[in-house]
Amino acid sequence: MKILDFRSDTVTLPTKEMLEAMTHAKLGDDVYGDDETINRLELLAAEKIGKEAALFVPSGTMGNLIAVMAHTTPGQEIILEESCHIYLYEVAGIARLAGVQARTIPGINGLPPLEAIKNAVRQENIHFPETGLISLESTHNMSGGMTLPLKEMASIYHFAKEKGIPVHLDGARLFNAAKHLQVEAKEITRYTDSVMFCLSKGLSAPVGSILAGTQDFIVKARKLRKMLGGGMRQAGVIAAAGIVALEGMVDRLAEDHVNALLLAKELNSIKGVSVDLEKVHSNIINVDFYETGFKAPGLASKMKDKGLLVNPRNDRVIRFVTHRGVGKEEVASAVEVVKEILKG
Ligand SMILES: *Cc1c(COP(=O)(O)O)cnc(C)c1O
Repeated sequence: MKILDFRSDTVTLPTKEMLEAMTHAKLGDDVYGDDETINRLELLAAEKIGKEAALFVPSGTMGNLIAVMAHTTPGQEIILEESCHIYLYEVAGIARLAGVQARTIPGINGLPPLEAIKNAVRQENIHFPETGLISLESTHNMSGGMTLPLKEMASIYHFAKEKGIPVHLDGARLFNAAKHLQVEAKEITRYTDSVMFCLSKGLSAPVGSILAGTQDFIVKARKLRKMLGGGMRQAGVIAAAGIVALEGMVDRLAEDHVNALLLAKELNSIKGVSVDLEKVHSNIINVDFYETGFKAPGLASKMKDKGLLVNPRNDRVIRFVTHRGVGKEEVASAVEVVKEILKG
């Protein structure tokens, strides 16, 4: 049985070129700053996203946690959209390890409205914690890969600057957002003080993420990474794949977006299945099976029996993610599997 894996873009395997680059990478002890390949990746990444400096980290989760720790002090409060990855899917690291309190705001397609952010920022009062950070996410996972509009990001950033509050972007899929907005990634990150993006998702590297910001921020971040156990020695062996990812895999994300829209349209045409096509911005789609009368987890397990792997979001919605491992043919096969199951 052929496996159709639509669970996540994290399942992408390294390319031949990546494996080749890994074999020949110039290595050293990165904790001493001696790994040429890591140094090259960090410079390249910083340059590509318009930040002074960058840091290679083992995962997006660690990158976000380090960002929160570097920007805040324990006992502060940080403002987050309520369905963001940092709040929902990072094991409460910000509470346990950064010691900050989350102040969540309901979003509209992943965007926390500026007015709500303004209301959430703390005034000086003996009873109140200080607001230490505003964190945004684009593309926004829970909303189905939607991109935050640049105009709104700019307004939030300008407000935050007035208040002296830093802004972090969880840009796990930053380059997908840039592709959708048809801008350079820099045009997004200019409205943030720090940004994390993943090399290990659609960009297909096996491991790793980048955290970027000012020189001073990255000095702090590097020390925090060491504290968290993320000082990785000859990690150029994986950073080599990251360089190939950044140099060669960004443009191909467009294919994933085309395939996601194709899948969305095909599924949407099945009776009882609905996808809001207006909301398909990138490589993630939220598919609502409510009208079919089936529960999403049950459907997902039937799909698995037929080789189609997906992640249910809740009782009615299943998430499908496109990536380098699933092309037009796999999209067509996935649609067939769904049709077969619904036919009973
Ligand atoms: C995947 C993801 C992360 C975390 O990345 P890991 O490398 O899996 O730890 C953070 N934020 C968002 C939006 C993600 O999709």
